Amino acid sequence: MFPSCLCPDHSVNSSTTPVADWLLGPAGPQRWRVTQSLLALGAYAVLALVLAWQWRLGLIGTGAAWPLVVFGMACGLAFYGLTRSGWNLGLQHRFGCEPSLTLPQSVVGLLGGIWIYLVTGPTRGAALGLLVLVVVFAMFRLGPRQALGLAASALLLLGAASRWLTLSDPFRFPADVEALNMAYTTVVLSGVALLAMRVTQLREQHQQQRVALQQALARISELATRDELTGLPNRRAILDQLATETARHARKKLPLAVALIDLDHFKRINDEHGHAGGDQVLRGFAHRVEAELRGGDTMARWGGEEFLLMLPDTSIEAAQQCLERLRERLRVTPFDEVAPGLSLTFSAGVTGCLGQGDIDSAIERADQAMYRAKQAGRDRTELG
Ligand code: GH3
Ligand code: MG
Ligand code: MG
Repeated sequence: MFPSCLCPDHSVNSSTTPVADWLLGPAGPQRWRVTQSLLALGAYAVLALVLAWQWRLGLIGTGAAWPLVVFGMACGLAFYGLTRSGWNLGLQHRFGCEPSLTLPQSVVGLLGGIWIYLVTGPTRGAALGLLVLVVVFAMFRLGPRQALGLAASALLLLGAASRWLTLSDPFRFPADVEALNMAYTTVVLSGVALLAMRVTQLREQHQQQRVALQQALARISELATRDELTGLPNRRAILDQLATETARHARKKLPLAVALIDLDHFKRINDEHGHAGGDQVLRGFAHRVEAELRGGDTMARWGGEEFLLMLPDTSIEAAQQCLERLRERLRVTPFDEVAPGLSLTFSAGVTGCLGQGDIDSAIERADQAMYRAKQAGRDRTELG
């Protein structure tokens, strides 16, 4: 009677013992579905015990109790088998069925509840609770229309069952009592239907909030690691990358070069072309350099008009050649977008980074070398 569809968080069900793995399968959403179908099977088993108790008390005949027990257990086992074998995913793939099989399980639950109502005589009022329970479970998975349809079907089936009972044995099943049962169930199921609509709304809100949160997190992470003006990694990001790369390089005994680049006389560019022109030159410089670098090389904005270049698997000499290539690139592509023929040079200091513990010192060495390049007349690279 319990559709296995209450599925708040797949990660909750993560205990992995050999028996649990055998019963429930590997971790993930499918394991959650299998767990739920097993719980439903357990509920059917408990109901079978209750029916057996009722049978012992003489309140239900053997012919009425057994088919009901067989129906419940067979359906429970079938749903467990379908999910455990992964057939539910096949059905989803082929026919677009919802993988928890909520609707078919709910229909089975409703039929079982009505069946109990028909055969349990004086205790049939309890079956009404089971009908409500089925709809409540289902509403967490189904859309509002399906949940409403399920509630309406429950009422229709109950109406038909009551009518049949009254017609077949009006003395045991008085029409007034049946009408009252109907009235109570209508009130409760109407409330449940309203609740289902509210739950759907909340679920949609929750989903929207989750998407918005993911976007905000992606944006925050972007802001925390990217320089807004040039789109290059910022100081924090390149330091993180350096930590990772140096560890890898030290393990593999590969060289790693770092270079600090400072644009020459940048203040002049700002003075002559305005701050916006200066910004455009910074962006243009970043684009030109990025186009020139190899896949694993990274240039970050270190601050102002200074940039830090990380060149994995590169000796100092090769790094020096790389910087000369960049210099040539700037020479042949002036910043015409800012002012016709506007040229830009840079001074750089390059050194090798010897391991994770050497990052700060390597940057310091590159900085000193870059300072020497400035002193020596700019537009050049010095080794640190
Ligand atoms: P040097 O060759 O000695 O490096 O001279 P310089 O003029 O480049 O050096 P200085 O450090 O004196 O000036 C750097 C200038 O870079 C000053 C600052 O206004 C400018 N600057 C720093 N960040 C930005 C920025 O984001 N946008 C713009 N437009 N200018 C910037
Ligand atoms: Mg500077
Ligand atoms: Mg400068």
